[in-house]
Amino acid sequence: MHSPVVVLGGGPGGYAAAFLAADEGLDVTIVEAESRLGGTCLIRGCIPSKALLHVAKVISEVNDLGAEWGVEYTGKPKIDIDKVRARKEKVISNLTGGLGNLAKRRNVTVIRARGSFINSTTLKLEGDDASIPEGGELTFDHCVIATGSVPAMPPAFDIGTDRVMDSTGALALADIPETMLVVGGGYIGLEMGSVYAHLGSKVTVVEMSDRLLPGADRDLVKPLSKRIHAMCEDRVYLDTKVGSLTDAGDKVEVTFEGPGKFGHETYDRVLISIGRRPVTKGLGLENTNVQVNERGFIVCDQQQRTADPNIFAIGDVAGDPMLAHKATHEGRVAAEVIAGKSSAFDKVAIPAVVFTDPEIAWAGITEEEAKRDGVKVEVAVYPWAASGRAQALGITDGLTKWLVDPETDRVIGCGIVGSGAGELIAEAVLAIEMGCEIHDITDSVHPHPTLSETLMNAGEVYYGTATEIY
Ligand code: FAD
Repeated sequence: MHSPVVVLGGGPGGYAAAFLAADEGLDVTIVEAESRLGGTCLIRGCIPSKALLHVAKVISEVNDLGAEWGVEYTGKPKIDIDKVRARKEKVISNLTGGLGNLAKRRNVTVIRARGSFINSTTLKLEGDDASIPEGGELTFDHCVIATGSVPAMPPAFDIGTDRVMDSTGALALADIPETMLVVGGGYIGLEMGSVYAHLGSKVTVVEMSDRLLPGADRDLVKPLSKRIHAMCEDRVYLDTKVGSLTDAGDKVEVTFEGPGKFGHETYDRVLISIGRRPVTKGLGLENTNVQVNERGFIVCDQQQRTADPNIFAIGDVAGDPMLAHKATHEGRVAAEVIAGKSSAFDKVAIPAVVFTDPEIAWAGITEEEAKRDGVKVEVAVYPWAASGRAQALGITDGLTKWLVDPETDRVIGCGIVGSGAGELIAEAVLAIEMGCEIHDITDSVHPHPTLSETLMNAGEVYYGTATEIY
């Protein structure tokens, strides 16, 4: 069988590339190993985690209401874990079903198979699905590799018990353990830890570095850190490594090595969330000219071309940041380039969001990157304590900050911590992409009273014209 364009992997990068290439009038085939399209994001990543985080958020807000406003619901929330799980599954199946329809409507062929390269123009297809063509080979003019990533699980932690889970295991929500250890204080660990904590588990977080979310801006992490400490009743072990895990029957024994914690403890479940690794093994890349870097990511240029002229790579397998919207955008670029358009990805403002309580979001350059790269920036910070809407909502520990190029007044970075930060950051992304000067933000009328005003107010701080309180 021959298909002019083949996309290997049907996650947000792969299906975006396939659909857009089909919209450009190209004949497209997706090869996906799983029974449905959607990839990590829809099936065991962004979407199920956010569905569960919604439950956690509502429980947390109800608790806050009692503590701050005197409106208390008596008793503890009664959790029907089967219903929670079923609701999450429903969200996933609604979305993956929708993708199947979108593929059909565009005449995109979907083959259920594991694909690997025989050479630079041929894939071998393995599996037992009827969609696999006779002979099990598929030739192409262009192939887009979108095989994504999987959770990193060091062999020492893989001790053969389902009490030690990765993010996929945690999202399966088998039970609400009494005690749970989250290994790794990155966004996936903190999001999943928050879910279990609000459902009733006693959660402990252990992180090797001296702070949570090591890659994120310190000012943004501070209010979240305070919340996570409160949520975990101070069981947050920083500067601490997990030495070993041992299966102790109905528990897991964990040894800690570090100033934050030394010795051993037992937990009902342990979530390993220490990062993800790109899926390149078993793809037969050695039969092509595709190059992989020292961290295992496929090397490609701004047009998503690999070193092999017929082959493109997008999404998690093509490097950081490993985020769905970055994968989708790279998919768009690859599709346009294959269709003969002059497209390229200039990565100036890929937003990142941590969907904890409070949320953290940033886009463009961060203060630490500016310092590291010797980029001159002026920082303008607006504390949410001065925002009328934040006061009304009782979320005054947030802040909004702009990073501005002092020579041009252009906005080059933005960071927000607080409820809804993930929605608010979209304005900053647009501003940075459009090369806005900070007065473009302050001159734009923002609705009152909203948290979006804090973006305008932080701009006013830059000019020294911010009013104290609305
Ligand atoms: P994937 O989504 O990983 O899809 C790859 C697909 O390729 C899979 O379907 C796989 O079956 C298939 N495949 C692999 N090898 C083969 C082969 N040889 N043959 C055929 N098919 C193959 N990102 C965000 O932007 N926001 C979030 O809030 C967010 N939350 C997350 C929460 C969790 C718990 C996790 C784990 C991830 C989260 N992510 C989030 C990251 C996001 O899921 C990924 O960045 C995104 O899915 C990457 O898309 P992709 O298309 O590159 O790969």
